[in-house]
Amino acid sequence: MEKRVALVTGGSRGIGRAIAEKFAKNGYNLVINYVSDNTNLDEIKEGFNKYGVEVLLEKADVSNFNECEKMVTSAIEKFGKIDTLVNNAGITRDNLLMRMKEEDFDKVISINLKGTFNLTKLVTPYMMKKREGRIVNISSVVGVMGNAGQSNYAASKAGIIGFTKSVAKELATRNILANCVAPGFIATDMTSVLNEKVKENISAQIPLKRMGTAEEIANAVYFLGGEDNTYITGLSLIHIWRCRRIER
Ligand code: NAP
Repeated sequence: MEKRVALVTGGSRGIGRAIAEKFAKNGYNLVINYVSDNTNLDEIKEGFNKYGVEVLLEKADVSNFNECEKMVTSAIEKFGKIDTLVNNAGITRDNLLMRMKEEDFDKVISINLKGTFNLTKLVTPYMMKKREGRIVNISSVVGVMGNAGQSNYAASKAGIIGFTKSVAKELATRNILANCVAPGFIATDMTSVLNEKVKENISAQIPLKRMGTAEEIANAVYFLGGEDNTYITGLSLIHIWRCRRIER
């Protein structure tokens, strides 16, 4: 049987890497996107070889439409289709509003939100032709609740939820399903910069009393972005979170 294909942005590390691995375990060929020059491409490729799937590693800044276009063209040249798109690449540039620089606001919006637009816009024509596709966008609980010191990040992640609900409505008649996963705090490089005290405070506010793992998010993404999802669209899976303010 022809293998299905998943494109995961920011698939080199953290949640994106775990998502790519979940799809690989389920027999998907992969397009893995990354942006840093120091990414260990051999190590990533070897990590997926054991699943017997083909992997295309594509360097592209998701905020740059032209680079995204080249990546999608390469993916189509190699695999002929993209069945699942996971818009996972994201960054933080935290600061209180009073201290936040304009460039830090713009950078976060352009990678997290515009990057999601770029890839969705570029991949959906191929999904439309096949009359099938699944898109999973990674938002954050912060996009729903807000968080002091993260107005840029919260705005980008709230924007992703609105964007996803809108494209879900536009694309449903073409059998393209678009959903969000909005994680709470997950142990990755992104959160490793927090000090132990902050991590303890965060864990105390989580019903399960611990941070999540990237693999636990990957399971939710696969549920929405895998072939077994044939009906759910426009949904945001949001982690339960009790605190009113994340103490820093
Ligand atoms: P991470 O460990 O910092 O990894 C970020 C990934 O995004 C890396 O693969 C990185 O590529 C890639 N990336 C960054 N900027 C990019 C760009 N301009 N173009 C293409 N790729 C880019 O982050 P993470 O914790 O796994 O987070 C993944 C997603 O989950 C993000 O959208 C984040 O906002 C969201 N999220 C995370 C948490 C959490 O607690 N960790 C909670 C809620 C939501 P390189 O390896 O090349 O740098």
